[in-house]
Amino acid sequence: MKQTGSCACGAFKYEVSSEPKGVAACHCKACQRRTGSAFGMGVFFNAKNVEILSGNYGNYMHTADSGRSKTNMFCKSCGTTVMWTAEAMPDGIAIAGGTFDDTAWIQPKLHAWASQSHAWFTFPEDIPVLQTSPGDIPVNSPPPSAK
Ligand SMILES: [Zn+2]
Ligand SMILES: [Zn+2]
Repeated sequence: MKQTGSCACGAFKYEVSSEPKGVAACHCKACQRRTGSAFGMGVFFNAKNVEILSGNYGNYMHTADSGRSKTNMFCKSCGTTVMWTAEAMPDGIAIAGGTFDDTAWIQPKLHAWASQSHAWFTFPEDIPVLQTSPGDIPVNSPPPSAK
């Protein structure tokens, strides 16, 4: 499966050459700020299956709620965050779902960070809804026994 996508101005373009490893809707506050929307759509790939075709992008590194670093790659012309890497996925890269040219095939397999979601959003009942992040024990949390 080949898919292409780009930022809003079209300068930052990419192509993927495989099926995604996962698709998640993330309702965390960082995704809300990244997108300016109610939640972010992450489409996850092995980095080797993602090719950047053009673009002059900047990196914005920050610490996620998990305590690990995450780096957004954004177009320097229009500001769209097109993809990101994270310490928690060393071989992976996530692409912002809305940047694909064709979005008809994009279907979330889970919702993460429901605890931070907008109040109006109704979660579907047929896929997992996680209160926090997928299977990740936050590195900055005390062990369960200490709570
Ligand atoms: Zn752009
Ligand atoms: Zn998020």
